[in-house]
Amino acid sequence: MIDFPGAAFAPDFVGSLPSVAANGTPQGKLDVAGYPLVSEVRYALFSTSPSTVRFVIQTVGGQPYQLSTDNSTGLVTIDLNALSNSGGAGGDTAASGKPVVVLDAGHGGKQSGAVSITGKLEKDINLAIVNKVGALLIQDGRVDVVFTRTNDITLGLQDRVNIAEAANANLFISVHGNSLPEAYPNREKVNGSETYYSRTESLPLAQIMHKHLVAGTSFKDNGIRTKSLHVTRETSMPAVLLEVGYMSSAANESAMLSEQLQNNVAREIVAGIYEYLGL
Ligand code: ZN
Repeated sequence: MIDFPGAAFAPDFVGSLPSVAANGTPQGKLDVAGYPLVSEVRYALFSTSPSTVRFVIQTVGGQPYQLSTDNSTGLVTIDLNALSNSGGAGGDTAASGKPVVVLDAGHGGKQSGAVSITGKLEKDINLAIVNKVGALLIQDGRVDVVFTRTNDITLGLQDRVNIAEAANANLFISVHGNSLPEAYPNREKVNGSETYYSRTESLPLAQIMHKHLVAGTSFKDNGIRTKSLHVTRETSMPAVLLEVGYMSSAANESAMLSEQLQNNVAREIVAGIYEYLGL
């Protein structure tokens, strides 16, 4: 799967290939014959805001590949005849043929994150939700799951980025709980779910994940926000940070501590991942 953020189909492209949708939407698939490794090539305008063109090359099982870009012509080449992947962990991606999803439970170990109004620690809530997401994904087996942590360890922000890069991940999802300082005016009244991203290419992921996050929490929809956060900025794959709810709000906090809300959020995060990946 290759996304081209900031790209659109040329006007004369519509109808120039087989299977273009009748409504003129430039999407469809190419007939592939005589190439035993490739069963299908699909293309679509995956997102209009920002405009993103997606190509899906369906291979027979996992295939090693080499991606190269000619900066003078803009030609992007995906070479399935390459003998091996350049990256170490990338070979694992190709071996299973499944997308790799990194799940990042915010904070951990010596870094508790926010402390809720009843003294509960953000790091524990983040981990509980992430472990539920991971369990569902692993049970389904449609993606490969990489956790930055599965227990209460201290982990730096760059360590989390490094894990995602080493895994050659297709997407990165960080789970957090929000909080306002005690001195904040009417702190108790601020509540709701927010989704953060840093790089434009992460916006389509943010839009899909936020829709599902709000469905999972039923909290106030505080929308999608851009912010320069280390893990969403320094990763090279689409990356979002989910602020599930406010631990400084009594209503949000008690819900976030419940198995029911954690299960709902986990189920919706999984649904968002599948929707984004087209699975
Ligand atoms: Zn946090």
